[in-house]
Amino acid sequence: MFEKMGDWKRTSYCGELTAADIGKNACLMGWVQRRRDHGGLIFIDLRDRAGIMQLVFSPESQGNVHEAAHGLRSEFVVAVKGSVRRRPEGTANPNLSTGQVEMDVQEIRILNDSEPLPFMIEDDSDVAETTRLKYRYLDLRRPSLQNKLVLRHKVSMATRNYLADNGFIEVETPVLTKSTPEGARDFLVPSRLSPGHFFALPQSPQLFKQILMVAGMDRYFQVVKCFRDEDLRADRQPEFTQIDAEMSFVDREDVISVMEGLIIKIFSEAGLTVNPPFPRLTYAEAVGRFGVDNPDVRFGLELVDLTKALAGSGFKVFNDAASKGGVVKAICVSGGASFSRKDLDDLTGIAASFGAKGLAWVKVTEEGWQSPIAKFLLDDEKNAITSATGAKVGDLLLFAADKAAVANTVLGRLRLNIGGRLGLIPKDELKFVWVTDFPMFDYDETEKRHVAVHHPFTAPMDEDLELMDTAPLQVRAKAYDLVLNGSEIGGGSIRIHRSDIQEKVFAMLGIQKEEAMERFGFLLEALSFGTPPHGGIAFGLDRIMSIITKSDSIRDVIAFPKTQKGADLMTDAPSVVDQKQLDELFVRVAKKV
Ligand code: ASP
Repeated sequence: MFEKMGDWKRTSYCGELTAADIGKNACLMGWVQRRRDHGGLIFIDLRDRAGIMQLVFSPESQGNVHEAAHGLRSEFVVAVKGSVRRRPEGTANPNLSTGQVEMDVQEIRILNDSEPLPFMIEDDSDVAETTRLKYRYLDLRRPSLQNKLVLRHKVSMATRNYLADNGFIEVETPVLTKSTPEGARDFLVPSRLSPGHFFALPQSPQLFKQILMVAGMDRYFQVVKCFRDEDLRADRQPEFTQIDAEMSFVDREDVISVMEGLIIKIFSEAGLTVNPPFPRLTYAEAVGRFGVDNPDVRFGLELVDLTKALAGSGFKVFNDAASKGGVVKAICVSGGASFSRKDLDDLTGIAASFGAKGLAWVKVTEEGWQSPIAKFLLDDEKNAITSATGAKVGDLLLFAADKAAVANTVLGRLRLNIGGRLGLIPKDELKFVWVTDFPMFDYDETEKRHVAVHHPFTAPMDEDLELMDTAPLQVRAKAYDLVLNGSEIGGGSIRIHRSDIQEKVFAMLGIQKEEAMERFGFLLEALSFGTPPHGGIAFGLDRIMSIITKSDSIRDVIAFPKTQKGADLMTDAPSVVDQKQLDELFVRVAKKV
């Protein structure tokens, strides 16, 4: 029943024909999007990567052409030859690039058929994502997804061109390697040749790119897959792509300025203009004003510090927080006095989920403060709160009194929730901000040890070196993140290039000398052979693409993504393997489920 393509050669993509082609003969190949039978005339929308072309089959045409058109169904694959003509008066479709023209088909070859589809190949069809992922090849036929992949390709090309033009060399680094300490769990691969030994898939090429600087490559980049076995959130995938770069003989400003140029190029591929230099916030400012280290600066609702004003307050919760080294902070929600009991309960629930013991609130009304805590506050305190927050009649004040970390997180999260609820976040704006001066260490209460905030190869600020022994939590790192609309799209640092400082940092992190040698001995050794000062950054390509394309999910910009549970529904991976394979790898499965 099917015909061969034979010697037919496609003359153009369906979506490329325009009024300029009227009168020409063309040969098109593609998929049947839709068939409309108008009594005599049959219309077929033929689709390929470039778009849709209307084909017309007339009963008067030669041979079996018209009859063949009758038998066409959705997603049949056909080749047609015919002439391009103007659509009759009043039938042009301004929504299509080919909307002025149609093809009068003279010959057809049906190259393949298709089973009835699990869903229509249409952009606005409302299909469960699990079905879309199982039939990803059909999902990817939808123009919106194809366009996202095309744009992703353009962004990768622009990235490569820009970095190459700026002296960066793309070098591939191994996928079967040793654990890299980016703080996530590793994916492990058992080695057949060394029984009981495992490779780790790289969480990033961090160690290799530093070693490439030792090797004298000077400027490295790679568009590279990284693997982290983490619990997945909406904007995470177990394997994801980084634009990874490293430079020798540079300081932070050098890295930032080259990378701002890259960001201009990437966004201009999507027709978006961005204007560096981007504003800067230190980590302390970001957390102090927005509660988080990835602030969405498209809207206000900033946190206000009331600790000083409320130390000694008659309201015990405030006084306790202020006198025990914590903070009292607030946000002032303009117009928030109209929030219902339920709204306030919701917000209290959110606050509790981020560790708050409660949520004190004040509605500023014509009649004064309406609030369960008003009676505990002196007029002076109320006045201080009003002047610091700028609260007016109609506003709502929300307070957090706790350890700084808890109070900031709670108000930072409430700020985002309220920003969304009240429509305060301008969807079309792109607001970049560099966050700098991160702390070097954090203290892990459960493990009772210091951990690296970035990774253990990040250099401490020179002026904070002395604090390493006395006040490690105050040591700032030469680390920087680029945040866009509240999403961390990139992060990097100037590295430690001296083995003595590297060893000291490992010691601070509780990594013993033997352990350091076993895990990163090759790096420590490399550092001892004339390592240049160096630093770099990595951008999350998937996240950038999902912001650029305004996708709801990062999965929409990845051809073959995994589900929230880390599964590939199309190939059905991960899956069980043969006992023979396990035996070869000397692996025994302890618990089968
Ligand atoms: N390797 C780091 C990361 O994946 C980026 C960097 O420090 O360059 O986050």
